[in-house]
Amino acid sequence: MASPLLGCIADDFTGATDLANNLVRSGMRTVQTIGVPADADAAVDADAIVVALKSRTIPAAQAVAQSLHAMQWLRTQGVQQVYFKYCSTFDSTPAGNIGPVTDALLDALHGPDQGFTIVCPAFPENQRTVFMGHLFVGEQLLSDSGMRNHPLTPMTDANLVRVMQAQTRRRVGLVAQGTVAKGSAAIGERFKALQDDGVGVAVVDAVSNEDLMQIGRALAGMPLVTAGSGIAIGLPQNFVASGALSIRAGADALPPASGLRAVVSGSCSVATNAQVARFKQDGGAAFAVDPLALAAGQDVVGAALQWAAARLAQGPVLVYATADPEAVREVQKKLGVARAGELVEQALSLIAAGLVGAGVRQLVVAGGETSGAVVQALGVERMSIGPQITPGVPWTAVTSTLCPGQHVHMALKSGNFGAPDFFSTAFAMLDAPA
Ligand code: ADP
Repeated sequence: MASPLLGCIADDFTGATDLANNLVRSGMRTVQTIGVPADADAAVDADAIVVALKSRTIPAAQAVAQSLHAMQWLRTQGVQQVYFKYCSTFDSTPAGNIGPVTDALLDALHGPDQGFTIVCPAFPENQRTVFMGHLFVGEQLLSDSGMRNHPLTPMTDANLVRVMQAQTRRRVGLVAQGTVAKGSAAIGERFKALQDDGVGVAVVDAVSNEDLMQIGRALAGMPLVTAGSGIAIGLPQNFVASGALSIRAGADALPPASGLRAVVSGSCSVATNAQVARFKQDGGAAFAVDPLALAAGQDVVGAALQWAAARLAQGPVLVYATADPEAVREVQKKLGVARAGELVEQALSLIAAGLVGAGVRQLVVAGGETSGAVVQALGVERMSIGPQITPGVPWTAVTSTLCPGQHVHMALKSGNFGAPDFFSTAFAMLDAPA
């Protein structure tokens, strides 16, 4: 069994599956683990490993410690390159955690304040592009997009050089689109020139998949890459070129799906609000979780599960805390941002566990933080990555300590992803004969 080639550390759970999805689509057999697995000594049989952390919004020192631990494990697995994955909207708080984690990983690989890496959240297929260091969501600057109202990581500056410089000790530079368009050799030369100038982190422009492929080629042999999931498209070619990887068909095969269906949504992103609205419009059964009722100590979890028990047999049910920005602000004013988030995540994860207890085996979770909480509550350790529902979101099959010996099909959807009919599209894919 050959060693895995690429070792990835993702700062949230939906981000991890998004990255794994891109790797599988590029032909790399990929295993995703939830944190460093308990059986850390066991060798992983895959071309790529993605360690999913929930480190995006925790205190920076904890994010650093968890990321270093993950990298240490990945290196004992023999990986040739480490990939730190964050959101394609660069979700971070003013305290980080992207900068502090990048610094710590570079320090560990190269020595204090040494080394060089890139920053590139671009994922053009998903309308995330970087031009002149500025991140765009579709036609809007990041700071004009719905991300400015995110409950935990509001993004109010689209200039990634500035955003990253505020988070890292290293100097930040730019590889502009004009250079990227000239191809991998020009990109490599620019990397070298920036390093000679004392730059340790380079924001790299990318507006197309071709850009990702050229950047990917220039990253061959770079010990640490930091990026969204898009850059993953450009990395497998390097392992193929070196003879270390042979691309296989069927890297995305999953066992057949069974059981009842549910959606749990804690995302308040624009796309998720539209998906929840569409599900209800189409007559779907939906239960709203009220954060203020949770704060008042009401048994919202019990009520939701009782409500669901009566409806699950008739088709997918939706339990959601999803709300528009104004409603979220109202709740946050009363409870505080962190407390509101925690209360909702905890309730939704208990509801998800209860739903699996009631026979749900096909579960869509909307929201990155929410997915992290749900996956932990379900006792998931490893996930097999299956076919893509929409760019960034694959079906996965997991084993849960709540139903040993059985698979739960899970789709972890980052808030911003998917068309309004995402929930029905996702389940329809599992209708198809395996
Ligand atoms: P996304 O992927 O859209 O960013 P996340 O799950 O990562 O979604 O983040 C959404 C956060 O907002 C979570 O912490 C969730 O608990 C919190 N939240 C969800 N609904 C509400 C609400 N109605 N009021 C306040 N906070 C909420």
